[in-house]
Amino acid sequence: MASQWSSVADLAASVQAGKTSALKLVEQSFAAIADKQDYQAIIVTTKERALTRAKKIDALVASGKKIGRLAGVPFIAKDNFLVFGAETTAASNILHGFSAPYQSSAIEKLEAEGAICVAKANLDAFAHGASTENSDFFTTKNAHDTTRVPGGSSGGSATAVALDMAPFALGTDTGGSIRQPASFSGVVGYKPTYGLVSRSGVVAMASSTDVIGPLARSVEDAALVLDVMAGKDELDATTIERQANYTSLSGDLKGKKVGLIKEYMGEGLDSGVRDVIEAALDKLKAAGAQITEVSVPSIGMALAVYYILCPAEVSSNLSRYDGQRYGYSDPDTKDLEASYKKSRGRGFGKEAKRRIMIGTYVLSSGYYDAYYKKAQTVRTKLIGEFAQAFETVDFLVGPVAPTTAFKIGQNTGDPLQMYLCDIMTVAANIVGNPALSLPAGESDNLPVGLQLMAPQRADKELLALARAAEELLV
Ligand code: GLN
Repeated sequence: MASQWSSVADLAASVQAGKTSALKLVEQSFAAIADKQDYQAIIVTTKERALTRAKKIDALVASGKKIGRLAGVPFIAKDNFLVFGAETTAASNILHGFSAPYQSSAIEKLEAEGAICVAKANLDAFAHGASTENSDFFTTKNAHDTTRVPGGSSGGSATAVALDMAPFALGTDTGGSIRQPASFSGVVGYKPTYGLVSRSGVVAMASSTDVIGPLARSVEDAALVLDVMAGKDELDATTIERQANYTSLSGDLKGKKVGLIKEYMGEGLDSGVRDVIEAALDKLKAAGAQITEVSVPSIGMALAVYYILCPAEVSSNLSRYDGQRYGYSDPDTKDLEASYKKSRGRGFGKEAKRRIMIGTYVLSSGYYDAYYKKAQTVRTKLIGEFAQAFETVDFLVGPVAPTTAFKIGQNTGDPLQMYLCDIMTVAANIVGNPALSLPAGESDNLPVGLQLMAPQRADKELLALARAAEELLV
């Protein structure tokens, strides 16, 4: 699909030079959102605030002021980012009516460079899912086939970018939620090194793996957005120093050591996806990359590890939604205990409840050693195996997901089948390394993403590799 937008850097330069206006760009976004509303990518727009900000930016430009690297560029935030101008719901009924008292650090940083948030995108409630079907509100449709899911949990952001509702969008990735919808929707999705982007003001899912990052139409745009957001933030103690300037990506594929994760190419991989990945790797090879097969022996256990650690952390993070402090509080109760129960009982959807139950179970004193502790042990083993793999290669590659976008409703009756969609994305979250989904081709007219990974903190190298690969694949 040819994009209506030029690159993010060009858009900002045009606004700064007075060749176009922030108001025009924001109106273009709103027109696309209105035109494509049947896709149900957007929960709410932040129209009034966006128009006010756009007019202010245009006035500043007219008076000769320098705005910033994202001057007047519209973007869409997944609705688990605290943003002014609309409610923040994380697509959950329990947050219905919640207005953020402050904005997330990532949004603040983007705004400081002149970007304008125009809307909040749909997601699986609390980011629990791989299809957006767990949203308490509605299911977003795939930009390439409306009978299919956009992926999840950042499915609204992926469809929004694929349909040009904004030049870029923000997502969160706890176990694959940026990369998998990017793969299903044919856009670039970037999951940074754990801690590189502040999570202050983002609704927490599983705190030891949550990261936030961009969904965009090109690696260059994703890198610019990352560059604006990256770095230490005193409001998030888990943040790390930025390692580089993430823009001005250069270099080619010659001599780059790239390891294809052997375990990801085995049984269960759809043959159409396999063909696209193999063809993409052939192109990288022809451009001079050294492709070898690499084994990460315990990677098959990553999914089980994730589905123990993630619910454990989810159960802890969701305990704050007790019907007293945020959003929905059940009106039909007389005492506090009953209010907790009814508010949580009615406010949380099925998947949130399932994760709370699994999480409290694996953390309970009788089962802690058998599940939680064992999962942490395997996590440490995986970190070691990845480190070992990165001693022989610079990058790891593989598919993002075993299939292309599946049909709406196909996996909703079977949570395990839904969890299996994450089989190739969760490992990067468990070990904390950066990973990216790059559009690599199509199978039966549906997009397929190539997953690229690098060691922790090698975000710049990873983006440079992706930039070089992108030219060959699109
Ligand atoms: N699909 C995964 C899950 O449901 C990942 C979610 C995410 O990354 N937010 O847990």
